[in-house]
Amino acid sequence: MSLDWIPPADRLSALPPYVFARLDELKARAREQGLDLIDLGMGNPDGPTPAPVVEAARLAIGDASNHGYPPFEGTASFRTAITDWYARRYGVPLDPTAEALPLLGSKEGITHLAMAFINPGDVVLVPTPAYPAHFRGPAIAGAKVHHLHLKPENNWLIDFDTIPPAVARSAKALFFNYPNNPTAATAPRSFFEQAVAFAQRYQILLVHDLCYAELAFDGYQPTSLLEIPGGKEVGVEFHTLSKTYNMAGWRVGFVVGNSHIIQGLRTLKTNLDYGIFAALQRAAETALSLPDRYLEEVQTRYSTRRDFLIEQFASLGWAVTKPQATMYLWVPCPPGINSTDFALEVLQETGVVVTPGNAFGPGGENYIRVSLIADCDRLGQAMDRIRQAGFRFEPVTASV
Ligand SMILES: *Cc1c(COP(=O)(O)O)cnc(C)c1O
Repeated sequence: MSLDWIPPADRLSALPPYVFARLDELKARAREQGLDLIDLGMGNPDGPTPAPVVEAARLAIGDASNHGYPPFEGTASFRTAITDWYARRYGVPLDPTAEALPLLGSKEGITHLAMAFINPGDVVLVPTPAYPAHFRGPAIAGAKVHHLHLKPENNWLIDFDTIPPAVARSAKALFFNYPNNPTAATAPRSFFEQAVAFAQRYQILLVHDLCYAELAFDGYQPTSLLEIPGGKEVGVEFHTLSKTYNMAGWRVGFVVGNSHIIQGLRTLKTNLDYGIFAALQRAAETALSLPDRYLEEVQTRYSTRRDFLIEQFASLGWAVTKPQATMYLWVPCPPGINSTDFALEVLQETGVVVTPGNAFGPGGENYIRVSLIADCDRLGQAMDRIRQAGFRFEPVTASV
């Protein structure tokens, strides 16, 4: 019997197709054709989780006291490890009971935060391009998403002066993320001060995603929203262990900041899940207290790949901006071809998978995102294939 007569709920049918799912189909087809794929598409870290974290998990799994339902709000010791880490890293004290909440990865938390605070029809400001959960989460909640177009000439920063006051007055929340996925842009401290002033002026909730807090290079230190005076009064900040500690599969993240907002998210989650397996919370505590050399190792791995790939692109005429953080390069498409067509052409002719920029919204058109998730040998192979296939960046030159 077919149940076709039961359509999905409006909140599902309103969603645009998830481009990564479509990309997966195309990858499967290319694989069937016998292509050796080099997948630089997703932001899936390729390194192993640090050994002390794996060992802590192994020990904690053997402890029967971890086998039952964990506390809804996360274990007290993980919450304390979060606020200790935060104080050490940013010099800001937080209350581990009211101002920190463990999450099953930050994507879960971001989407549920939207469901906890956004009503159908509420206006939510979201940059474009953006990490998909930043617009899909609000869309699931029924929000009217107002796109803020990021531009290269503004270093992919939100320009608060271009937001019409009527839109700002009607907006309930702003979702944003620096160091940024997909553009790899970073924001100076003054930008965060502008964001807080904007939120105070128009009474807007700031939802900042700082998942690249530690993936920064050349001495650059990303800013936390909560370091800014007034930041905690207007917002929350999402963090993840996925990227820094190569723990994407473990599903551990957390949110810190405004206690009223965190309470709302906690209430919703109490009705949805039981939180993270207590043994993994133990392991996550270990990750947050690892010595800095682990971070330096990860940072060096990505910055070495970044430098290698930028040089390779330069040899093909491509000027790619050198990012100070994240695990991505944001690469312009050759003139005259859009991002979907370009990504497909590259996949079909070389077996190299990159993400079309429009997967991150209309503002990502004419760019592709390349993830630094393979070693330099493999990245070199990818670039050799791109070179052999004849791809080059030929800027349109004005005719004389
Ligand atoms: C990778 C990434 C996340 C991480 O999501 P998790 O669910 O914690 O694994 C969140 N936000 C952005 C912008 C990301 O790039």
